[in-house]
Amino acid sequence: MPEATPTLDDPCPCGSALPYAGCCGRWHAGPQPAPDAEALMRSRYSAYVRGLHGYLLATWAAETRPAAIDPDPPGLKWLGLEVRRRRTIDADHAEVEFVARSKLGGRAQRLHETSRFERRDGRWVYVDGTLR
Ligand SMILES: [Zn+2]
Repeated sequence: MPEATPTLDDPCPCGSALPYAGCCGRWHAGPQPAPDAEALMRSRYSAYVRGLHGYLLATWAAETRPAAIDPDPPGLKWLGLEVRRRRTIDADHAEVEFVARSKLGGRAQRLHETSRFERRDGRWVYVDGTLR
C-alpha cells in the first residue's frame, strides 16, 4: 500500500524522473493504453507501488491473470525499478528484463525477471515472466 497519499506531481515511481502525471499516470488514468511493452512494464511497476490492483489485472493476459492480487505485506517499501533490457520479437511480442527493489522489515529484496508481453486488440498485456 502507498505510504502517504501520492500526488500527480510526485516523481513517477518507475524512476523515469518525470512527474507521475506525465509518465505512468497517463496510462493509469486511461483511456489511452501504454504504447509499448516497456511503458506497460513501467506502468505496472508504478501500479504495484501505488496499489492500483485494478490496473494490474486489466493489463494481465486473461489466461495467466490471477483472480485477485494480494495486498503488499505491511511495511513493504518499494525502492525502485531498473529496466535492464528490452527485446522486440515482432510487432506484437516483446520482452523486458528488469530488477525491482523493495525492502521489508529492514531486509532488501530484489525481483529480477524477464517479462513477456503481447499486444492484443491494440493493447499491450503482461503474459508471464521468468525469474532470473
Ligand atoms: Zn513512470
